Amino acid sequence: MPTTDNSYPKPAVSELTPPDRTLMGPGPSDTNPRVLRAMSTPLVGHLDPSFVEIMDEVQELLRYTFQTDNEWTIPVSGTGSAAMEAAIGNLVEPGDTMLVPTNGYFGGRMASMARRAGGTVVEVDATWGEPLDPTAVDDALAEYDPDIFGFVHAETSTGVLQPNVSELTAAAHEHDTLVIADTVTSIGGVELRVDEWDIDVAYAGPQKCLSCPPGASPLTLSDQGMDKVLARDEEPRSWYLDLSLLEGYWGEKRAYHHTAPITNVYALREALRLVAEEGIENRWERHERLAGALKAGVEGMGLEMNASEDYWLPSLNAVRVPNGIDDGAVCEALLEQYDLEIAGGLGDLSGEIFRIGCMGHSARPENVIYVVTALGDVLE
Ligand code: PLP
Repeated sequence: MPTTDNSYPKPAVSELTPPDRTLMGPGPSDTNPRVLRAMSTPLVGHLDPSFVEIMDEVQELLRYTFQTDNEWTIPVSGTGSAAMEAAIGNLVEPGDTMLVPTNGYFGGRMASMARRAGGTVVEVDATWGEPLDPTAVDDALAEYDPDIFGFVHAETSTGVLQPNVSELTAAAHEHDTLVIADTVTSIGGVELRVDEWDIDVAYAGPQKCLSCPPGASPLTLSDQGMDKVLARDEEPRSWYLDLSLLEGYWGEKRAYHHTAPITNVYALREALRLVAEEGIENRWERHERLAGALKAGVEGMGLEMNASEDYWLPSLNAVRVPNGIDDGAVCEALLEQYDLEIAGGLGDLSGEIFRIGCMGHSARPENVIYVVTALGDVLE
């Protein structure tokens, strides 16, 4: 009989009992109980005829939520960054130029991904906390003649909503430049009209205004966007995220590429069904109304919003940290005393703002009252 080797003792890990937090940070948001229930239903195979039907339903629901007729509309396996990398890594070919914004953390991530794809990055300048100015975008398009222009519709690091999207896309298309939009913090929470606004490619995340755990992330491409992907001279650097291969699974063939995260697809289906039941416009209105109450509450306490009223982002409320207050200590106290998550600032705004989400299932009156009351108490 082999002797027992005690160098690898059995870990004494207890049963999972995560704390019951209220999630009012930059994401994830509170998961809708119906989504959690969908996640506990039995697995079927990723090529089972019943799953193929679920895939069709998810694609149909995603088109509604993105407000698009794009055939190429799929959930990418992975978090929002996977959908982001699928967009950038497939659209940007070595030698291409991509124009990216400087007004927040996620424009920086776009730049990093474009460089790794072999592209040259050029920037349209705007300060953190401001949206892009269409004239500056137009000037940058004329100066650099980029192949791709990326912008962040809802900048989670600054609480800024990019207005004038149609103006930006019209200017880009005049220069034969394709447009990629980051809609991670806008999808299902603030007005987003992919077709009407002529966005070529949009990617998103499920864990914000869709109130679904991360793991299957929405992506949509117009025919023009997909034509560029399919006409590439060189394969994309990622096999896993190669859209021409993923098309074999999500397109008509439904052939194996990788094992889909089945439970996450169930979850997304239920989260998107909730969007369709509520109605997309009603959902945008709910976010605006409840985040409006949240904003009124924090302003009533004498706090100041970071973004001006014209580009306030209801799903992510960036509130200026009052002088002499340690943002980290406030977030910690809220977590410890109230089981409530909000976040501090990122990058250029680190230590300067609180980031308070109002997303999906978290955008409810009881959550808004709770966060305003708890923040007021901790700041007192
Ligand atoms: N883009 C934006 C605007 C985001 O807020 C995030 C995440 O917070 C991402 C991209 C990346 O998504 P993930 O963290 O799910 O990979």
